[in-house]
Amino acid sequence: DGDGFGDRPATALDALRTVFGYDSFRGQQAEIIDHVVQGGDALVLMPTGGGKSLCYQIPALVRDGVTVVVSPLIALMRDQVTALRELGVRAAFLNSSLGPAEAREVERAMVQGDLDLLYVAPERLVTPRFLDLLDRTRLALFALDEAHCVSQWGHDFRPEYLQLSILHERHPMVPRIALTATADVQTRAEIREKLGLLEARVFLSSFDRPNITYRVVPKKTERQQMLAFLRENHPEDAGIIYCMSRNKVEDVAAWLNSQGREALPYHAGLPAEVREANQDRFIKSEGLVMVATVAFGMGIDKPNVRFVCHLDLPKSLEAYYQETGRAGRDGLPANAWMAYGMADVVMLRQMLEQSEAGDSHRRVERGKLEAMLGYCETSDCRRQVLLNYFNEVLPEPCGNCDTCLEPVETWDGTVAAQKALSAVYRTGQRYGAGHLIDVLLGNSTEKVAQQQHDRLKTFGVGKDLSKAEWQSVYRQLVAAGLLTVDLEGYGGFRLTDAGVAVLKNQREVRLRKDPVQERRRGVHDAL
Ligand code: ADP
Ligand code: ZN
Repeated sequence: DGDGFGDRPATALDALRTVFGYDSFRGQQAEIIDHVVQGGDALVLMPTGGGKSLCYQIPALVRDGVTVVVSPLIALMRDQVTALRELGVRAAFLNSSLGPAEAREVERAMVQGDLDLLYVAPERLVTPRFLDLLDRTRLALFALDEAHCVSQWGHDFRPEYLQLSILHERHPMVPRIALTATADVQTRAEIREKLGLLEARVFLSSFDRPNITYRVVPKKTERQQMLAFLRENHPEDAGIIYCMSRNKVEDVAAWLNSQGREALPYHAGLPAEVREANQDRFIKSEGLVMVATVAFGMGIDKPNVRFVCHLDLPKSLEAYYQETGRAGRDGLPANAWMAYGMADVVMLRQMLEQSEAGDSHRRVERGKLEAMLGYCETSDCRRQVLLNYFNEVLPEPCGNCDTCLEPVETWDGTVAAQKALSAVYRTGQRYGAGHLIDVLLGNSTEKVAQQQHDRLKTFGVGKDLSKAEWQSVYRQLVAAGLLTVDLEGYGGFRLTDAGVAVLKNQREVRLRKDPVQERRRGVHDAL
């Protein structure tokens, strides 16, 4: 090319140093890049801030041809392309924000091989016109970013992602790399199946974010509690406050401003210009608070977000992990703070039961909600519970979450756990908490009669605890990894090896005191 940018770096390390200006690869980057440069398919599961972008940007520079990056995030595309161009990389994007003439120019550059990286929105990619252009382009790699968008159970589902397997059908020789920061087991399986990546090598990084301190407080006067937390820990830092509804976002933002803390609202009901302007200010500012619904955050690259607060319970631990993961991307200490109250649970349950979704979908959602509640109610290290959900074992308590820093009061729940686990075992490891609690309480329901569960030894052995208390026990058993929820089947509980050890009296169980006590005050009969 003669402009000095067209020359391909000889190796990945060359590209890292000369183009990006970094000394060494992080984590599994080197392995992943090597595998992809050699033409292998990869599924990369790496937490936010882990450095996923380089995993396809460097192969794009080292391999001959154009790398097509599929990304659902229009705002992010522009930022990434701008940053890459500043580094001298030949990058462009195609999405609905371009006019026809600009789009045609980008298409021309792609077909003529004048690009290293092209970012494209999924809905554009699957058009016949674009597929035809691809057929005429020398391709280096397909990068499928935010690959969890293919998951129909997930909160970021994009129907166009289901069509992306067409890329492999039309270009079987072009390697593919799919990337995501969401990695519960089902989503992982779904990505591999739906994107046709069953043969791809899976690169699973640790999902631990050691610089984030996790805290969950029982909701009392949530706003005051949060303000006190901010005043004490983050008087001048930038952070995000998540709320469930648009109205609440507006109210909380206005209230914070009235308390002298500058805050902006963000939700899908605001005009696009306002959203964009608020997001822009947040990214550029040092100390601004963004009060937002879940509509805010995917792809926001602000390294110095110091705290993420949840005033309402997220729907799942994946969502919680992703949302809190926006804190501390620069690796410096950050806080994830959540206020948790039973009213949230009631509301989420109602939303779930009233949703139009089919039974199996609802079962999965219910299981996810239970895991979320288990996290809130655990007396164990929160990081261990969180990572356990992503099938990762943290051998020792982390020392950097509220339950580690200020251990909660517990009671010896071994006998209660044995009753609960035995009910699971004796009913064939097929049922969820509802039916099991009927068995424990000795309720002669229709289902109990049908299954003859009134003849079990466990029938009626749990009358010492209330229904709500048993619900908490089951959640804590899930959170502690003594039970797993079979989300692929009917959402029933199954015993883990650790659960079996409890049944065999080889292991003690400590249960958390406060949620149970809170319930005894009587507010929670709605459950
Ligand atoms: P992700 O997409 O996984 O959330 P990014 O690709 O945005 O993460 O990377 C997060 C940050 O880490 C970025 O600022 C990026 O420039 C930086 N980074 C990534 N890899 C390296 C590396 N090997 N050395 C130094 N910084 C890196
Ligand atoms: Zn901990």
